[in-house]
Amino acid sequence: MSSTPYAGRHRLARGGARRPAILTSGFLLPAAAAAALVLTTTGATVAPSRPPGVALTGNRAASLGGSVDRQAAETRADDEQASQRRSQAQLEAAAMLGRQQEKERIARDMARAALADELARAKALARAHAWLMPVHGFTFTSAFKMRWGRMHTGNDLACPTGTPISAMSTGEVIFTGWMGGGGNTTKIRYWDGTVSFYEHQSRISATVGQKVAPGDIVGYVGNTGHSFGSHLHLEIHPGGGGPVDPHPWMTKHDLRY
Ligand SMILES: [Zn+2]
Repeated sequence: MSSTPYAGRHRLARGGARRPAILTSGFLLPAAAAAALVLTTTGATVAPSRPPGVALTGNRAASLGGSVDRQAAETRADDEQASQRRSQAQLEAAAMLGRQQEKERIARDMARAALADELARAKALARAHAWLMPVHGFTFTSAFKMRWGRMHTGNDLACPTGTPISAMSTGEVIFTGWMGGGGNTTKIRYWDGTVSFYEHQSRISATVGQKVAPGDIVGYVGNTGHSFGSHLHLEIHPGGGGPVDPHPWMTKHDLRY
């Protein structure tokens, strides 16, 4: 009787350590089944020496010398529980992986959407900041140079009267009206501060304060003011200052004659 209580304590000590895991893992039924298995196995072993009418308990079985069989049974029970814990752990791991993959998918979708937004904004900005020629189908007739004893401060772009003239980029109309030798004139200040002058128009269709986008029609080519033949006199004033030769300015802005 001196060695078997030790074995019992040994098992109890392990059982004590194990119990919280069993209780928390939700395998109460398998634990009960394991206990039944222990009783069945040890009961069979000790049955011949058991006095009639004596209830069989785990301790009693152990004291009757069934500890080896009981330990084997408990080992099997432990294996079963361990296997079930593994299955549970695998399920939890799979669920965790699934959640992680879902999180990553959402993160990827958000990153893609953010990139698409950024791209759309960049494209919109590129469109807003694009530079266009004010007229099409013109003939270049006069450069930025001394002419007739005075400085010709723009480029002359000859085209038929009535040819539409459009805003060169995004900006605001800052002047419309008659301007001496320039005749009907429109001035537009663009997003970068550059101001364009359109002179000799047959008709002005824009109004001061009007916001314009690249290509918006603001007037029509004519022959008003000090002009010999229908053409657009175009001036470029960077930062609203003095006029510069439009040709190299246009080349720099990827506009070709
Ligand atoms: Zn001119």
